[in-house]
Amino acid sequence: MIVGGGPLVTRDDGCPFLPDGAVAIEAGRIVAVGPTEEIRRRWGEADFLDARGGLIHPGLINGHMHFYSTFARGFGGKGGSAATFTELLERLWWRLDKALTLEDCYYSALYAVVEAVKCGCTTLMDHHASPRAVRGSLFEVARAVLDGGLAASLCYEVSDRDGPDVAAEGIAENRAFIDHVAASGEPRLAAAFGLHASMTLSDATLERCAAAGEGAGFHVHVAEGPEDERLCRERHGLSVVGRLQRFGLLGPRSLAIHCVHVDDDEKELLAETETAVVHNPESNMGNAVGFAPVLDLMKRGVLVGLGTDGYVSDLFRSLALANALQKQGLADPDAGWTEVPTMLFRNNARIADRHFSLPRGRLVPGFAGDVIVIDYRPPTELSEKNVNGHLLFGPGAVNVVATVASGEVLMKDRCLTRLDEPAIAARCRELARAVHGRF
Ligand SMILES: [Zn+2]
Repeated sequence: MIVGGGPLVTRDDGCPFLPDGAVAIEAGRIVAVGPTEEIRRRWGEADFLDARGGLIHPGLINGHMHFYSTFARGFGGKGGSAATFTELLERLWWRLDKALTLEDCYYSALYAVVEAVKCGCTTLMDHHASPRAVRGSLFEVARAVLDGGLAASLCYEVSDRDGPDVAAEGIAENRAFIDHVAASGEPRLAAAFGLHASMTLSDATLERCAAAGEGAGFHVHVAEGPEDERLCRERHGLSVVGRLQRFGLLGPRSLAIHCVHVDDDEKELLAETETAVVHNPESNMGNAVGFAPVLDLMKRGVLVGLGTDGYVSDLFRSLALANALQKQGLADPDAGWTEVPTMLFRNNARIADRHFSLPRGRLVPGFAGDVIVIDYRPPTELSEKNVNGHLLFGPGAVNVVATVASGEVLMKDRCLTRLDEPAIAARCRELARAVHGRF
């Protein structure tokens, strides 16, 4: 198939921008990118998805997501308000996750996939928890991702908070899924080894995780709230990043999520070990955990990506918030203009490269055929130099009119072609009622 007929942003350094471009996709992969006329001449038989002057862009990548947060929407939990981030975890998230069944894992993920397609996101790095339904949960989430036609890296968040048996099940689930992905050769799936956070993991469990996850990357929340860092120093005499390093859990395939409270030594350790960091601006603000020093991390050479942390599915919104947050947090109206779009449009693709067998997030031959069309008619000149300025202040997720993943059209003219959104949402509401009843 061909997607063409509009300004095309490749996100590749070699040829970043075509004023009227097209991308040809065959067997799920991009085979050519060039002027629309030329590409149509070469592949005259191919199906043509006409962007009608809209912006053609690589499918977006979400660097950190929790599919299961679907069932928290509109549900504040029970038992009063939380004064701290840890209380919020205890009162809402660590009760909600225990109410999930395997069917809940599937449907919460499927609904999140629907939203991702509608927001132009084609690849997600998910972090899953369902302590009363651990075994098989990643396989149910993977089934939802593939049923929806997207790509995802999955992991189960191991924690000691629900006792040793659940921790052991989490370790086994990560290992089973890592082995499954390696054996399947499915390019749309990747696996990491999930850990909740230092504050809910004993040394003994971390040691078992390090052994069981050998060869995989570790996907872990790092110093999200001040408690994680404080408790780590009190209990272990180490910083959070230092503790992860002691157990061999850092490295280029590992994802350190948040890093709000890391000190200079921890920043250097993240840079030295080439560990990627994922920034989640709306979640950080909403949970009032603090201001993540992501520009400083980038200056030190750390690869920093952008995620939504299950707060929302809309990466355009996260981009805008990250941009404003850096300026507000650093009291500098000039902060982050280049770095923030780099997190979403460049670094998330580099993070995905470290996880998936097929490269994603750029419109380049050999990459996954993930393309979106954004309905946008710029009021000022649009070029390779200012495309990020247009995307920061112009279109939003609702302007994504077409989503193509692995060469399959999943949404056209804002209509989903593969998933039945009303039916999925109706089943989710039934399941969510039961989840909230068990809460
Ligand atoms: Zn998270």
